[in-house]
Amino acid sequence: MNNPLDATGAVVRPAPAEELEQTLYEVRRKIYPRAVHGWFAGWRWALIWLTQLLFYGTAWLQWNGRQAVLFDVAARKFYVLGFVFWPQDFIYLTGLLVISALSLFLFTAVGGRLWCGYACPQTVYTEIFMWIERKIEGDRQARMRLDADPLGARKVALKAAKHAVWIAVGLWTGFTFVGYFTPIRELLPAVLAFSTGPWETFWILFYGFATYGNAGWMREQVCKYMCPYARFQGVMFDRDTMTVTYDERRGEPRGARSRKADYKAAGLGDCVDCTMCVQVCPTGIDIRKGLQYECIGCAACIDACDQVMDKMGYPRGLIRYSTENAIASGWDSRAMLKRIVRPRVLVYFAVLLAVVAAVLGSLYLRIPLKVDVLRDRASLSREVEGGKIENVYRLQLMNTQEKPHRYRIAVSGLDTIAVASEAEVEVPPASTRQVPVRLRIDPGAAGKGAHGIEIEVRSVDDPSIVAREKSVFMVR
Ligand code: SF4
Ligand code: SF4
Repeated sequence: MNNPLDATGAVVRPAPAEELEQTLYEVRRKIYPRAVHGWFAGWRWALIWLTQLLFYGTAWLQWNGRQAVLFDVAARKFYVLGFVFWPQDFIYLTGLLVISALSLFLFTAVGGRLWCGYACPQTVYTEIFMWIERKIEGDRQARMRLDADPLGARKVALKAAKHAVWIAVGLWTGFTFVGYFTPIRELLPAVLAFSTGPWETFWILFYGFATYGNAGWMREQVCKYMCPYARFQGVMFDRDTMTVTYDERRGEPRGARSRKADYKAAGLGDCVDCTMCVQVCPTGIDIRKGLQYECIGCAACIDACDQVMDKMGYPRGLIRYSTENAIASGWDSRAMLKRIVRPRVLVYFAVLLAVVAAVLGSLYLRIPLKVDVLRDRASLSREVEGGKIENVYRLQLMNTQEKPHRYRIAVSGLDTIAVASEAEVEVPPASTRQVPVRLRIDPGAAGKGAHGIEIEVRSVDDPSIVAREKSVFMVR
């Protein structure tokens, strides 16, 4: 297309389009959550105490003269209280993961992001780190002022103290984590003497600084941008899932007013627009804009708003756990709770119950002896003294109990078959032993070919411990 000419005959070129630079990276706005107290904050702190006592304390518990919970990766043995698990027990780990996933589905279908708000390590450590921050730098306003202040001795001292405590907590967390893989009572003196191995040093530092970075610096960024659960939780929600909800019908139109004013006559709703719900939110969102994926369901805004409602003399629950259906239909909590027991929840619950029962049942019935039978491929079948036919096997006996056992080996399934090698063997506690076994039959007791047999291994000191394995006896 030709460009037009101006009055002087010069070509008029179109003005270049205005260049707009649009960043694809959202610059982080620092959040200064205000301290909050109340019913839900109390629950969160109870769970923080519980989970952290378990995490920091369990590593120090002793059981039968060894660490109660120890994942000895080098020896491929996992000690959990009275149990010793081996790689062959992988099924239990699978069961544990299935139980965790189903529990997550169930709790999410019922109460939304309950895991995120109360028990997720990111929430728990962020809460602990924020508590330390408040103790050293003060609450929201003091922290905002401190950050706005020019650099000075007081600011440097407070910031240094905060980071020193954060790093100490992070490193203790890393040390405890590694203490589940290396006996913690041996690890502590090694750490104090700076003589830990390269892997132990790496994991203590890695886990320690991950805790410091995630809970001290990144905080809500982890939930907003890194956590996959935040992204797929939506598929587990339905209109009867309880989430932290602002009751718009009751709260709007929002507006400031005096306590004594007849706000209803002035056409106002119950929200006094104090922004306390926003100030306490660890992800910095305004729940009054509706359900947002950034909301971790911590209920801090419920506690804050309830306190405002108390001060104003209004009923609590302007922000509360509610469902989309309950808000839309104006149900009371009894009607809402009735809908909690719905087919999806019942299915999750039934499957969870079945898996828990199966895992517990199999743990209860677990036989502390595992036997693997391997045929000696080098000599399938041979004739020995007296014309007898002999087959050779290798038995791998695994004693999963923490005491030694003496086992008797027996065989059945073929006429005249008997064990020709040593029939009793001892296996030390929590160990495996390979035993060569020779089986023989009398000449002419079986025709040519493969014959099914059964090898039985029974504990001499506890006959209830028995394992049977099928194999074949070859005759040429
Ligand atoms: S805390 Fe309650 S009253 Fe205050 S702004 Fe939030 S919803 Fe409104
Ligand atoms: S909106 Fe409320 S429940 Fe959601 S993260 Fe913020 S404070 Fe927690």
